[in-house]
This record gives sequence, structure tokens and C-alpha cells, in this order.
Amino acid sequence: MAYDFDLFVIGAGSGGVRAARFAAGFGARVAVAESRYLGGTCVNVGCVPKKLLVYGAHYAEDIGQAQGYGWTIDGATFDWKTLIANKDREIQRLNGIYRNLLVDSGVTLLQAHARLVDAHSVEVEGKRYSAEHILIATGGWPQIPDIPGREHAITSNEAFYLETLPRRVLVVGGGYIAVEFASIFHGCGADTRLLYRGELFMRGFDGSLRDHLKDEMIKKGVDLQFNADIARIDKQTDGSLLAVLKDGRTLEADCIFYATGRRPMLDGLGLDQAGVALDQRGYIAVDDEFRTSVPSILAIGDVIGRVQLTPMALAEGMAVARRLYKPAEYRPVDYATIPTAVFSLPNLATVGLTEEQAREQGHKVTIFESRFRPMKLTMTESLERSLMKLVVDAETDRVLGCHMAGPDAGEIMQGLAVALKAGATKRVFDDTLGIHPTAAEEFVTMRTPAAI
Ligand SMILES: Cc1cc2nc3c(=O)[nH]c(=O)nc-3n(C[C@H](O)[C@H](O)[C@H](O)COP(=O)(O)OP(=O)(O)OC[C@H]3O[C@@H](n4cnc5c(N)ncnc54)[C@H](O)[C@@H]3O)c2cc1C
Repeated sequence: MAYDFDLFVIGAGSGGVRAARFAAGFGARVAVAESRYLGGTCVNVGCVPKKLLVYGAHYAEDIGQAQGYGWTIDGATFDWKTLIANKDREIQRLNGIYRNLLVDSGVTLLQAHARLVDAHSVEVEGKRYSAEHILIATGGWPQIPDIPGREHAITSNEAFYLETLPRRVLVVGGGYIAVEFASIFHGCGADTRLLYRGELFMRGFDGSLRDHLKDEMIKKGVDLQFNADIARIDKQTDGSLLAVLKDGRTLEADCIFYATGRRPMLDGLGLDQAGVALDQRGYIAVDDEFRTSVPSILAIGDVIGRVQLTPMALAEGMAVARRLYKPAEYRPVDYATIPTAVFSLPNLATVGLTEEQAREQGHKVTIFESRFRPMKLTMTESLERSLMKLVVDAETDRVLGCHMAGPDAGEIMQGLAVALKAGATKRVFDDTLGIHPTAAEEFVTMRTPAAI
């Protein structure tokens, strides 16, 4: 049967664009439908604008610290509107780049919502298109728990477009988006509180990093409230918000920001009609090669709910394009040893196993840890400290995990991720020359175990 396209991709986000471009480059006839914004979450309301806002927030510290280096910066003021307008301009530029990437690689771009009709067809704006394969890459969407007054709260989607910086912000959540936005709001000058219902935020990260981030955020002046959750939000007559907590306390704020989880974006997608099954968590169920319960329909990225990070969506998109159209280059996606960074202030970064995971998995471990004041801060009044940690298998000497909190942690961790991927031992780290004077050299100069 002749199809209109070889591959029809729904969603021009991280995963969809990668799959579409490479499939077209391998010679496939490809169409992409995008209902909202080119580049998806990462480019428009995720990684990229988030990092730009973190850069903006960090200037508060930079300006303060400059005095230690002899600079007098009188009358420094911050304007949220300028930051948001400049961020919007940059995102528009990136949207254009994504358009060119798709169009220049020969992809047919349809800027509208797509709905599955059956195993081989999709409907866009009332028109049907057939394809040998359909790829669902529709990403995720933030959700706010079903509490009275939830309509008064915002999520990351709205935070990127706030017209003014709220004076008092309540951030609810304990994951990376919560700590990043708490750092952004606080750095930009809002009176910021973070509420998390558990004992300590950043579950899944190494315990030393979690404690360290808690201490550093408190030092910077963010009010962290653990074991706390909101039962109800009331709008007060002056327009401000009152959060009534489950323990009966009340907190006033001008903005309540929820970062308590994301759901797969399946709205109006026609999964039932096409017979595509979900897994127990409500994400699209796929096999090892990203086939759904309907084999001609594939799914990748946040909508399958594996590891919700842009590089994972890219890797999954690449794997699909190669398997279908360049099988000689196909390699399965590797979900082990995923490096990641959190752009809180201070930054966190990690690759490999946490100490807790390594012990749980039965490794006998040796722990190396270094805590220090970054050199750049020694001539300033900043009390911020950095943390670096290695988790080493005591029997094989393999480095199982690297963890860091401090400036440029993500930049440093990327190189260490290569070392871990290559199976580096602690001996290899020890035999590597440091680059002096840097913070990163600590990773190759830690000699005395902190714990075994
Ligand atoms: C605030 C925030 C910060 C983040 N920071 C980071 C970070 O620092 N590093 C990192 O690696 N990851 C980060 N992420 C996660 C990252 O953005 C996602 O993992 C990534 O975007 C997932 O890519 P995707 O292709 O699965 O989906 P998306 O990028 O979400 O793309 C899905 C696209 O599909 C479109 N779509 C949905 N339904 C339809 C339909 N029916 N028809 C047509 N189009 C449709 C959507 O409009 C969207 O453009 C962040 C996420 C958030 C929310």
C-alpha cells in the first residue's frame, strides 16, 4: 500500500524533531505535526528558558561578590520584564532555528494538532494523512493536585510568562523544577519559601548532595519547609493568596507555584480509537524498540515516562530513526549511567550510582568527599561551599558515581560522565593530572576515604 509518508511524527519537541530530521536525512518521507511551539517543552517552557532565568538570578550574587574584587556597583537594580522580554526574544530565535532544521531536512511541517485515526493514519485540521509508521512524541504537561483553590496556583508553564516578579512566592514540590524555580525567584529578589511534603527534597539524588543543597539554600535565605503541604488556597480581598496547610498553619503569598509532577500529554490524541495501550502509570506502553501495542505506532520521550530529560528524548528519537531507516547504525538506548544537572543555586550534578544505590545494590563501597570554599569566593563575603563526592567499588576500584554541588557542576560532570562510561577506576582518576587551579581538580586529588 502506498502511504502519504514513511513516518508521521506527532510533536516537534526534543524527541520528535530529532527523529524527524534524522529519518528524513536517511531518505524517509517525513511529516511532523506540532500544535503549540517548535522545539517543544525544552526550548519553550523547560531547559532553555529555565537556564536563562537562572543566569539572570545569579547576577544578584555576582554583583555582591564583585565588591571583593574591587568593583563598586552602585545602584544596581533588577527588572523582571527585561529578563522575560529578552528570554522571549531568544526563544523566538530558537523556534526559527527549529523550523529551519525541519524544513531544510525535507520534513513536511504541519503546525496544528494531530489525532490518531487508526494504525496508519492521522488527522490534522480535518485532513487525513497515511503513514507506514506514526511516532508519538507529545511530551508531558504539569499538573496541580486537586485541592480547593488550585486555580489560583501556577506551574512552570505560566512562571515563564509572569508579567511582574511576585513579592512573595511559595514554591511547592521537592524535585529539580521546584529547587530551580525557588532559586530563580529568590535570586531575582522575591521572598521565597519552598514547601515539600517529604522529609527532604531531591529524592533519588545522593544523600550528601541533598543535605548540602538544603544547607546552602537556607544560607542564601530561601525558607525551606519540609513535611509541609497545602490543603487549600484562598484568594484574599487584596488579591494576595492564603495557603492553608494540612497542619493548620497559614502562609501568605502573591504567587503559589506548583512543581509536583507532570503527566503525559495525551489530550485529544485518539489513543483509544487507534487501540494504543497505556502502562499502569498512565504513560504510553512501549517495548524495547519503542513500539506501542499497535506495532506501526511508536512512542518516545516524556510521553513514555522513562527518564524525562531532553538528552533521553533525543537518544530515543535517534534510535527510532536509525532502526527504521539506517539499521546498520542502530544501537539500543542505554539507560545506565545517565549524567544530569540541576540548575539550582548552587548547581548540582551527578552521574552514576548514589552512595545509597550502590550500597543497596550490594557493592562494598569506598567514599571520597571534598568540601571546600570555591577559590572565587575566598575574597568575597559569600559563605557558599562546594561538595564533590566519589562512590567507588572497593573490590573492583571502579568509580560507580560522581556527585557535585557548586558552580558549573554540570559543566564539570559532563567530562566525568565520559570517564564513567569508559569504566574508569579510582586509579585512573588518581593517575589523571589535575588542572590547576580549578575546582574540578578535586575530583582527581581526593586520596583519603571519607567513609567505607
Ligand atoms: C521547567 C522544566 C525544566 C526542564 N529542564 C530540563 C533540563 O534542564 N534538562 C533536561 O534534560 N530536561 C529538562 N526538562 C525536561 C525536558 O524538557 C523534557 O524531557 C523534553 O522536552 C521531552 O521531550 P519530548 O520530545 O518527549 O516532549 P516535548 O519537548 O514536551 O515536545 C512535545 C511536543 O508535542 C506537541 N504536541 C503535544 N500533543 C500534540 C498533538 N496532539 N499534536 C501535535 N503536537 C502535539 C507539544 O506542543 C510539544 O511541542 C525540563 C522540563 C521542564 C518542564
